[in-house]
Amino acid sequence: MKEFKSQREKIKYYHSLAGGRKMEAFQEMVCESETIAFLGGAGVSTESGIPDFRSKGGLYRKKDRRFAGYRPEYLLSSDCLFKRPEVFFSYFRQNLDCRTVEPNDAHRVLSKMEADGKLSGIVTQNIDGLHQKAGSRRVYEIHGSALRSYCVSCRTQYGPDYIFENPDPIPRCPACGKMIRPDVTLYGESLPHPAYDNAVNLMNTSNMLIIGGTSLAVGSAAQLAHLFHGKYLVIINKGPTKMEGKADLVFHESIGEVLTGLYGE
Ligand SMILES: [Zn+2]
Repeated sequence: MKEFKSQREKIKYYHSLAGGRKMEAFQEMVCESETIAFLGGAGVSTESGIPDFRSKGGLYRKKDRRFAGYRPEYLLSSDCLFKRPEVFFSYFRQNLDCRTVEPNDAHRVLSKMEADGKLSGIVTQNIDGLHQKAGSRRVYEIHGSALRSYCVSCRTQYGPDYIFENPDPIPRCPACGKMIRPDVTLYGESLPHPAYDNAVNLMNTSNMLIIGGTSLAVGSAAQLAHLFHGKYLVIINKGPTKMEGKADLVFHESIGEVLTGLYGE
C-alpha cells in the first residue's frame, strides 16, 4: 500500500481516484485490513424492496388516510404503542412486515466476507433480519428486529407471526393476556444495550470501517461512526453523508453493485 505523510495527504490521494483505480484501492484496503466492520442503514435494504423512512418514495412520505393527522415518528413511538395500540399495530402490520423479503447482493457479499474471515461484524439500523437471512452471524441490530416480539408483562418471546398474523387489533400474550410488542426500538426508547455495546466494541477495535446505505442522519449511527479510529474509512451511499470529508473513499452508487465489484465471484 502507499504510505502517506499525513491524513490530509492520504485523503487527497484517494479522493483523486476514479473508476477501476478507485475500486482497486478499495480492494487493497480490504486485503490489507485484518479487522473490518460494516455499519449499515436503510439503503442496504432498499435494494431488497424495503422502503427507507426519509427518502423520496420512503415510508414517511406515504399518504394513507387512516393515519392522517399522525406524524410518522409518532406512529412508530412508544407513546403510540401504549396510548393508541390499535393505531400502532395497524400501521406496523401494514408497513413493517418484512417476513417474505429476500436479501440482496449487498447482504450476500457481506455474508461471504464474514465466512472468509474478512469481516468482523455488522452493525445495522435495519430491523428486517436480512443480514442473518443471507447467512451473516455477527450482526448487531441496534434498533432491534421486526422478526422478534415479546410480552410487555411476562417477557415471553415470540416470533413475528404473533404480531403479523394475529386477527386481534392488539396482539395478546397466550401466557398472561398482556400485550405482545415488536422487539424494535421505537421513538422515545433507548437502544438495546447488548447490541449497542457490541457495536461500540466493534467500532473501537476495527482497522477498517465500511459505512453503507446511511446518510448518518440518525444520531446513534453517527455516534458509532465517530468512535472508529482505524486506518481506512469507506462510505457507500447514493446520497451525500455527513462524514465524507473524513472518508478515504466515497461511492455515491448502489451498495449492491459496489460490494459486488469489490468482492463478487
Ligand atoms: Zn405474557
